[in-house]
Amino acid sequence: MRTFDLSTYTVCLASQTDFEGWRDAARSLALNDAAPQEIAWVVDAACQAASQLPPVPSGSQFKVSRDFVERAETAFCHNDPERFALLYRMLWRMRAEPELPRIASDPDVRRFEAMEKAVGRDMHKMRAFVRFRQIGEGEDECYVAWFEPDHFIVERNAPFFVRRFTGMRWSILTPYLCAHWDKAELTFTPGVDRTSAPADDATEALWRTYYENIFNPARLKTKAMQKEMPKKYWRNLPEAPLIPDLVAGADAAAREMIAKMPTPPAPHHARVQAKHWPTSHVPAGSDDGANADSIATLRKAAESCRRCPLWRDATQTVFGEGPEEASVVFVGEQPGDQEDIAGRPFVGPAGKVFDAVLAEADIDRGKTYVTNAVKHFKFEPRGQRRIHSKPNAGEIQACRWWLDKELKLIRPGLVVALGATAAQSLLGKTVPITRLRGQTIEREDGLRVFLTIHPSFILRIRDSAEKQAERNRFLRDMQAVKALTAP
Ligand code: SF4
Repeated sequence: MRTFDLSTYTVCLASQTDFEGWRDAARSLALNDAAPQEIAWVVDAACQAASQLPPVPSGSQFKVSRDFVERAETAFCHNDPERFALLYRMLWRMRAEPELPRIASDPDVRRFEAMEKAVGRDMHKMRAFVRFRQIGEGEDECYVAWFEPDHFIVERNAPFFVRRFTGMRWSILTPYLCAHWDKAELTFTPGVDRTSAPADDATEALWRTYYENIFNPARLKTKAMQKEMPKKYWRNLPEAPLIPDLVAGADAAAREMIAKMPTPPAPHHARVQAKHWPTSHVPAGSDDGANADSIATLRKAAESCRRCPLWRDATQTVFGEGPEEASVVFVGEQPGDQEDIAGRPFVGPAGKVFDAVLAEADIDRGKTYVTNAVKHFKFEPRGQRRIHSKPNAGEIQACRWWLDKELKLIRPGLVVALGATAAQSLLGKTVPITRLRGQTIEREDGLRVFLTIHPSFILRIRDSAEKQAERNRFLRDMQAVKALTAP
């Protein structure tokens, strides 16, 4: 709800998260040609009674994309009081610049994206670090958690906890808002201070046992761990007291683990390899592809590549495919489980997303060349499954031999780096994909490299709204690729 002083347009929002109020007011003000500097946005629930919008001029219309509205709704949860004005300014500018949200170099867009990301991170942290404590028994049983978000994310995140803990009565208490679920209805009450949250319960011991068991010393990267799990969350985590001791003993535990657990290749790969390569040395008469004059001969040469150890455990070399005269080349990271078996790139779940988005962007995959920075599947056996493992810098560098040759033979007008590994291989250094996505970088040899995410990133997002938003962003990137390669 909002009130208007028509000389300066003061808009009163009912709460920090009154996105509907902001949206109605913003639409009305934009249609009344109110400049951003004429509007003061305040959060004041008390002024609800006197709401009044300037009338919308008849016949006037102003549409923005659903994607922008969804993104604005996320950014709206940021704690910056300037967000209301920033979002209105973007809306106002989009009347003349409808493509504004895609201009990554624009200061308003940069600030908008930073807010969106900060809110996304905060939501992720809340999902990862909320720990419920049991209070009451039998019919009174209820679970209560304390969390201190950086942004106004409780309402936006609460449906996630409803889905995950549908059969429990729970409350999540925070300093600005509390969410409550009684197995039927989600309600909100004003924030409380930390003393309202229970400190300990019987589930604490269970958490600690669980954490001790899942802690993998061989994977310990203290800096990365503290980045993912900043110390401000530790005081609410039952497992936190274990962390210093587990970290201190990690080296010795890792050595012991390695000694006990050799990781042989999965049996069916040994069988397939034995069929193709009866011995482990470089096959007689193998060719390094240096003189290959076509993709077909280059592909043949790569079948016996031993430039790095990845060939040992994988089923086969998964080389690029597509016409040699393709004007655009897509480069992914490495083949996955299904690609390794099929011997073709991008045919697994990420490939299906890729195909669908390409089709929506009106790009014919059959006219493009699709390959990977690394041509053998790198994985860790876990039971019957093979879990994707990121190639390291040495493996990327070794396999660049083949990628360079593919690009020299094809000479595309544009190469699309799908994800960080592809970008690292194509540009020879690590680049922050999330910050630079959508941009084209020209290499010293004149090759233009367009940066975007790997489609598997979309598959890893659990929240359906976030997944859809990320897919939309990827579609926009592919539409930009289409525009860049238009004759
Ligand atoms: Fe050769 Fe690349 Fe396979 Fe390593 S990953 S063995 S460099 S083809």
